[in-house]
Amino acid sequence: MIVLKNDKEIEKMRRSGGVVKGALDLVSKSVKPGITTGELDSLVAEYIESEGAKAAFLGYGGFPASICSSVNDEVVHGIPGDRTLEEGDIIGVDVGSIVNGFYGDSARTFEVGTVSTEAKKLLQVTERALNKGIEQAKPGNYLSDISHAVQQEVEAEGFSVVRKLVGHGIGRKMHEDPQVPNYGRPGRGVLLREGMVIAIEPMVNVGSADVRVLEDDWTVVTIDGSLSAHFEHTVAIRGDGPDILTS
Ligand code: MG
Ligand code: MG
Repeated sequence: MIVLKNDKEIEKMRRSGGVVKGALDLVSKSVKPGITTGELDSLVAEYIESEGAKAAFLGYGGFPASICSSVNDEVVHGIPGDRTLEEGDIIGVDVGSIVNGFYGDSARTFEVGTVSTEAKKLLQVTERALNKGIEQAKPGNYLSDISHAVQQEVEAEGFSVVRKLVGHGIGRKMHEDPQVPNYGRPGRGVLLREGMVIAIEPMVNVGSADVRVLEDDWTVVTIDGSLSAHFEHTVAIRGDGPDILTS
């Protein structure tokens, strides 16, 4: 069941989204060779608390941290810890917050120092694919118009979209209906309506689309060891088009 949000609820979600944005801006300033993923997690945990918000991921399904940090061939759901970032790495950081009972969810992938041309291109294409998807998030379109736009952008550049993991509706729960795949033919799925709020989140691999989960039961990695990137925004569908709540 898709839960529509009224204007007041969307404004509450924007506050939660603002905390997530602030946290990712802080990560952006802090990412550099030598810092550990655990240190990034601590910075975000402190920031979220200082904003009077709650970290949405901490304890979610038993997840032990406030951010997911996914380095290089890690796609999503990496657990922060004592891994030290090195020059040339890329790191995806996913942050969720709860403010007044509403969730915000957003992710970006960052360059650590100077990265390869291929890594740079992967980040650019993944963020652009997210934006192409967001453009389709308007009343009268179908859900898979978003999916299709993401897939097209990615595959035109020779990369692949992860299919085993998808975006999602969001509101008073982190994961609500509908699921938002990053692939598919256009004109299918639910008709988009004003008041829907969804997290659109392309996960893009340089090589095969296939992924597997590590022994820690969380970290998703590419099956072929190729680099992967992840960008995500929480987006409200309004009468006049998409309204990004995490920017
Ligand atoms: Mg997320
Ligand atoms: Mg999400």
